[in-house]
Amino acid sequence: MNVILLGPPGVGKGTAAKRMVEVYGVPQISTGDLLREAVKNKTDLGLKAKKYMDAGELVPDDLVIGLLKERVAKEDCRKGFILDGFPRTIPQAESLDASGIRIDVVVNLHADESVIIERLSGRRDCPKCGAIYHVKNKPPKKAGICDACQSELITRDDQKEEVIQNRLQVYRKQTEPLIRYYERKGIQKTINAVQTIENVFADIQKAIGQA
Ligand code: AMP
Repeated sequence: MNVILLGPPGVGKGTAAKRMVEVYGVPQISTGDLLREAVKNKTDLGLKAKKYMDAGELVPDDLVIGLLKERVAKEDCRKGFILDGFPRTIPQAESLDASGIRIDVVVNLHADESVIIERLSGRRDCPKCGAIYHVKNKPPKKAGICDACQSELITRDDQKEEVIQNRLQVYRKQTEPLIRYYERKGIQKTINAVQTIENVFADIQKAIGQA
């Protein structure tokens, strides 16, 4: 089962992917996570990618495509994988096709932009253990402090208001055309992302034929 989760930043692709990992035992491949790891480790690629990420721009296709192909070639992807945040441009999708990596279903998670902005701007991350909170929807017990490891929570640079607006514009221009791209291939299914995670997951199971 090779699945792409498509949708704007903040729509819940990461959360849905994590649930799929638990249930189906296939890895989640998030190019955002791979890039953040590269930035943290100060690799050549990480140093090149950082300025785009901080500004809410897309990292150039050649850098991301290389990273993704390397990851998909690993043993744990044999049984399948969930792509979260890739492809994000038509050339990225074309490179997937050209490399013979088969995609079975593209699940397009849809939410109105106002919902996305609220979700993204309230998000707080724990820089130490990776736990994710939301000031309104999932507040930590003590404001600004991680429940799990007591570290001080942060707002990621790419989740600041002006950067969010830019990320949404980038999404509309560069990523949204992928919906049509996969629709034409007959493998695109749109689901409503503004529901409980249980219902979103139930719709994903139907979309991928595993309900
Ligand atoms: P994410 O966590 O998926 O929202 O990704 C965070 C940032 O990493 C994005 O805003 C982009 O700068 C970069 N990024 C992640 N995936 C891609 C991709 N497929 N193509 C280009 N840039 C990406």
